[in-house]
Amino acid sequence: MSTYAVTGAASGMGRAVADKLAAGGHTVITVDIAEATVRADLSTPAGRRAAATAVLERCGGRLDGAVLAAGLGPAPGRDRPRLIAEVNYFGVVDLLEAWRPALAAADAAKVVVFSSNSSSTVPMVPGRAVRGFLEGDIERVLRTLRVFGKQAPTFAYAASKIAISRWVRRTAVTKEWAGAGIRLNAIAPGAVLTPLLEQQLATPAEAKQIRRFPVPIGGFGDPGQLADWVVFMLSDAADFLCGSVVFVDGGSDAWFRADDW
Ligand code: NAD
Repeated sequence: MSTYAVTGAASGMGRAVADKLAAGGHTVITVDIAEATVRADLSTPAGRRAAATAVLERCGGRLDGAVLAAGLGPAPGRDRPRLIAEVNYFGVVDLLEAWRPALAAADAAKVVVFSSNSSSTVPMVPGRAVRGFLEGDIERVLRTLRVFGKQAPTFAYAASKIAISRWVRRTAVTKEWAGAGIRLNAIAPGAVLTPLLEQQLATPAEAKQIRRFPVPIGGFGDPGQLADWVVFMLSDAADFLCGSVVFVDGGSDAWFRADDW
């Protein structure tokens, strides 16, 4: 049996993944600002350091895998772009950089990062914001997004997910990751019926936008089914998966950019 760290495990898809792994007999170290083995606020550097250290202590320096599902959606609010940037991007990168030696200590460790199909379907996301993330410069990200006013959380969300997908692809193929036997991949869900989406559906203007969004297969994704994909991406069957962003989104990404290859 294996040992996994799962962030965002108090709710939605992270919770569904943690439940399925535990039901499979694995040891799961959960991380969340709400109910979790390790309670930590991933929106601050100190919270991320504390979370990284507590997990390393609990796993004894060896992790068979990790799932990074903690995230914030594009809800309104002045401070929201900063929180989105901190949790959705740095809450992944800082933890994984700290956990890399423990992942390398396992045999064929697997990591699944939650991206989103917002990474390919939101138009006009400024490249400067995405580069700001990849250069670790959160103030540049926030300065760039200020022009969007009330729409800034939407663009912060999309930019955070583009940046984390690029970070996954760049990092996955390096000698420190693939070369150390670690399989690093991302999953990019479409609209999945979790508390995050329910919060957006509760706002009439946002609900209208979500329901108008093209989803060829129709409806919303199911958190349990998304968790099954993640469990598959952690299994031996995924030994040859490296640096992939797997879209599970009812066809929206294909609808927008079928020929974009
Ligand atoms: P959710 O809101 O149900 O769960 C998110 C979890 O993250 C919660 O348990 C929350 O407490 C935790 N979290 C938030 N801020 C935190 C912080 N500062 N520190 C520690 N933990 C924190 O959301 P979900 O829909 O299950 O989303 C999981 C992931 O999937 C997120 O990264 C999200 O961006 C992504 N995603 C969701 C959808 C969707 O439609 N639900 C679509 C695409 C991508």
